[in-house]
Amino acid sequence: DLRVRFAPSPTGMFHVGGARSALYNWALAEQSGGTFVLRIEDTDAARNRPEWTEGIISALAWIGISGDSPHFEGPYFQSAYEAQHREAAAKLLKDGRAYHCACTRDDVKARTGSEHQGYDGFCRDRGLTEGAVRFRTPDEGVTVVNDMVRGRVEFPNAAMEDFVIVRADGSPLFNLANVIDDIEMRISHVMRAEEHLSNTPKQQLLWEAMGATPPVWAHIPVIVNEKRQKLSKRRDKVALESYRDEGYLAEAMVNYLMLLGWGPGDDREIMPWSEMMPMFRLEDVNPSPAFFDEKKLRAFNGEYIRALPLDIFIQRCDPWLDPSWDRTTFARVAELVQTRIAVLSEVTANVDFLFLEAPVHDQASWDKAMKPGATEILSDYAERLQDVNWDPESLKTALEEVGAAHGLKLGKAQAPVRVAVTGRTVGLPLFESIEVLGRERSLERLRTALA
Ligand code: GLU
Repeated sequence: DLRVRFAPSPTGMFHVGGARSALYNWALAEQSGGTFVLRIEDTDAARNRPEWTEGIISALAWIGISGDSPHFEGPYFQSAYEAQHREAAAKLLKDGRAYHCACTRDDVKARTGSEHQGYDGFCRDRGLTEGAVRFRTPDEGVTVVNDMVRGRVEFPNAAMEDFVIVRADGSPLFNLANVIDDIEMRISHVMRAEEHLSNTPKQQLLWEAMGATPPVWAHIPVIVNEKRQKLSKRRDKVALESYRDEGYLAEAMVNYLMLLGWGPGDDREIMPWSEMMPMFRLEDVNPSPAFFDEKKLRAFNGEYIRALPLDIFIQRCDPWLDPSWDRTTFARVAELVQTRIAVLSEVTANVDFLFLEAPVHDQASWDKAMKPGATEILSDYAERLQDVNWDPESLKTALEEVGAAHGLKLGKAQAPVRVAVTGRTVGLPLFESIEVLGRERSLERLRTALA
C-alpha cells in the first residue's frame, strides 16, 4: 500500500513550495488508492504557533487536500510521539548503534582544531550512561541514496559524523523524530523538498538500524524567483494564503503549482486536477530549479476565471463586492468583468463606479484625461445625453459626433468622459458602463466634472 506523508513544521505562513510538495504527494495517493498522511512537526515549541498550524490545514483544504477525501489521514502531531522517539533511541543504545556523549562543542573544537570538522567519535567506546545520544555512522564506504528524481546519490561515510539523535536534556532531534514517525506511520514514499537531501543518508541509516526497510526517496527541486534566487519569505510573495486572499482560484493555483518541476509530457499547460492527477509520475519530476513566474500564474488564473460559468463567476466575486452594492446591477456587467480580470480582487475597481456616490477621484488619471478641449467634450456630451436613445450603440454614436465636431477621434473624446463617469482611465467598455449607470447619474457626473 502506498503511504505518503506531508510533514510541515508550523513555523510560518504556508509556503507555495510546501503546497507543491503536498500536491505531488496527494497525486500519488489519489492515483494509487493510497494514503496521504498529514503530520504536523510541532516539536520546536519556541517557533511553533497554533495559528500557523490552522493556516496549513485551511490552505491545504483550499487546494483540495482534506479529510473530506478517503485518501487523507491525520493530522497527527509529532509532539505527541516523543515517548516513541525516546524508546527508539533506547533501542539503538541497547543495540550498540548509538552511544552517550558528554562532549561540549568547545571540547570537540579543542581536539580537532576546527568548528567544521564534525564530531571526532571521542565518546564512542567510553560506555557513558548520560549526555546526548549520538548515532554511530560507518567510517568507511558510501551510503547510497536512490532518489526517484535525482538518481543515485552517494554520500561518503567518512564525511558523515556520528550525529546527535537525542539532546542531553532528553529531547529528540529532527532526524530521529522524522524517521521514527515515518516508520510508525508505515510510510512507503518520502517525497519532499530538495533541501532535505543532505539528511537522507543519515535517515536511511536510521531506518536500517531500526530494522525497517527505507522508503522510496524523492527530492523535488527548489523554487526560484526571476533572479534565480531561492524563493524566500523575506523577499518574495511565498505564502499560499496571500494568493488566495488576492483572488487567485484554487484550481488555477493547483494547476500552476503542479507544473513547477513536472509536466504531462506534451505542450498542454492548462489542465484540471482530474487530468493531471493520474498522469503524475515521480520519474518525470525535473531535478533542476523551477521558476515561479507570477506573471504566468496570473495568466493561468485569468484563463480559469474566463472558463467559469457566469453564475459561478458571480458567486466567486461576492467577497470582493461591498455588501451594500446591488447584486442585480453587478450581474448586468459581470460578463464584461469576467473577460477582463486576471485575479478576483480586480473586480472591485472595475465596478465600484456603479455603486459609489461619486466615482473614485484619482488625481493622476484626472490630469491625464482632462486635456485642453476636454471641457467642451464633456458639456456637449452632457447635452446629448439628455435625449439620446439609452443603448450603448447610440451612446457611442453621440460621442463620436461630439468628438468629430471638435476634431477628435473617438478614443481621444472618450478619455475625459471615462474619467468623469468612472473615475479611472481604464475599465469596462465605456458605453455599457454609462448604460448601466443610467441617464441621471451619468449626467450628474459629467456636470460635476465640469463644475
Ligand atoms: N518538518 C520538516 C520540514 O518541514 C519535514 C521534512 C520532511 O518532509 O521530511 O521541512
